[in-house]
Amino acid sequence: VSADDRTVIGNERIVSGHERTDTLGLGTEEMRELGYWVVDRVVEHFESIDGPAIRASSAAELREALGGPVPDAPCDPLEAMQTLVDVALANMQHGDHPRSFARVPGPSSYAGVLGEWLGTGFNAIASSWAGASGPATVELVAIDWLAQLLGLPDGTEGVLLSGGSMSSMTALAAARHIVGPGVAYLSDQTHASIGRALVALGFPAENVRVLPSDERFALRAATVREAIDDDRGRGRDPRFIVATAGTTNTGAVDELEGLADLAAAQGLWLHVDGAYGAPAALCPSGRETLKGMQRADSLTLDPHKWLFSPYDIGCLFIREPGTLVRAFSMRPEYLADVRADTPEVHFGDRSLELTRRSRALKLWLMLKVYGAQRLRDAIERCIANAERAQVLLEADSGWEIVTPAQLGIVTFTRPGWSAEEHAARVAAVSASGYATLTSTFLRGHPVLRLCTINPRTTEHDIATTLALLAAG
Ligand SMILES: *Cc1c(COP(=O)(O)O)cnc(C)c1O
Repeated sequence: VSADDRTVIGNERIVSGHERTDTLGLGTEEMRELGYWVVDRVVEHFESIDGPAIRASSAAELREALGGPVPDAPCDPLEAMQTLVDVALANMQHGDHPRSFARVPGPSSYAGVLGEWLGTGFNAIASSWAGASGPATVELVAIDWLAQLLGLPDGTEGVLLSGGSMSSMTALAAARHIVGPGVAYLSDQTHASIGRALVALGFPAENVRVLPSDERFALRAATVREAIDDDRGRGRDPRFIVATAGTTNTGAVDELEGLADLAAAQGLWLHVDGAYGAPAALCPSGRETLKGMQRADSLTLDPHKWLFSPYDIGCLFIREPGTLVRAFSMRPEYLADVRADTPEVHFGDRSLELTRRSRALKLWLMLKVYGAQRLRDAIERCIANAERAQVLLEADSGWEIVTPAQLGIVTFTRPGWSAEEHAARVAAVSASGYATLTSTFLRGHPVLRLCTINPRTTEHDIATTLALLAAG
């Protein structure tokens, strides 16, 4: 630091010049070199589709490699990063692997990764308008683009959260603020995170009505109407209907039009959980399947599932503008500088998160780089892949389809196999590293399940996975 960089304030000599380092002393050249190394590893990751789809090591082994005493002195950053790549990142489910069929895969895209990196590198915040006008605009635009692609009504507002669980919980908290406490109706196929959210929000057990789904695992409006009548007869206050646009287990879609009619007629709040399935509305066949979804008062969609974004992004859409701010706005003294009354958005007022990173950058960049047409085609291919899987299963008399391909999910069984056998076959395929899929239960019966939402998956991938399963 040269003498010119020193200023005298009072009796203190203060260093005003900055060395060319990061906050804690990594130098410029080192930062570049390490950053390029990371880019290379990530590009290799996108190319390495021959690696295992899932891998786990023993807790002791992982602890041995990643633990030890608290590091006191600095260590070689490259060595530490190599350890993360070799040990931590090697031992997990690779949701972006083309033969990752288990649970809900996470087919992330490189443009999404780039947006994430930029935001993290600049420590992008999306809280107040004055402190985040750029990222806030990116979030407004990305939500608006997505709303248009889904065919949601003009004026739909939204906020980006960590995922589907937080998105639906935020929706239900806002909804209760608006319509008051009362009974919520869900189905036996509703994602478990909704029931958990209702408990966390303090819904008493008698205000959570879990209703039976029909033979296709969908919730019918008539079922909900009966329950509402019953509750009104008992002096309870029906308030919320939670419908699912693509259930996690089978891809089933509740009777959305009928439920929207019912909610409108009875003055109930309709929340649609499309965490899994909503992106299907980008393409024509999915749009047809999800008809009625657009009438929701609130809608959850997880870009980190079927919209090619790296983890940690769930999108909440709200139909009535101003709802989120009414539920979540706060005005403490210490935020007065950045929270002046402007017509602009303060995203810190749209959920329970105040300091929040900009999740919109990765979504915006992904939409911009690939364009809607490519996303539409990719999603269409994913829907077709489950249908192709169904054709392959039907061609082999050993398998029995339990639920036909719907929104990228098909479930099937091997008559004669016990629940343990189903699970053991899945475990063996996962252990081989070639592919990973799910064994689950439908009304107590064991089934196998493929979720085909990676557009890179080929028919050969599916056929070989089925052959491995059958061979044991
Ligand atoms: C995955 C999923 C959720 C939960 O979303 P997270 O992002 O895991 O929090 C909720 N609903 C459905 C239908 C899902 O598939």
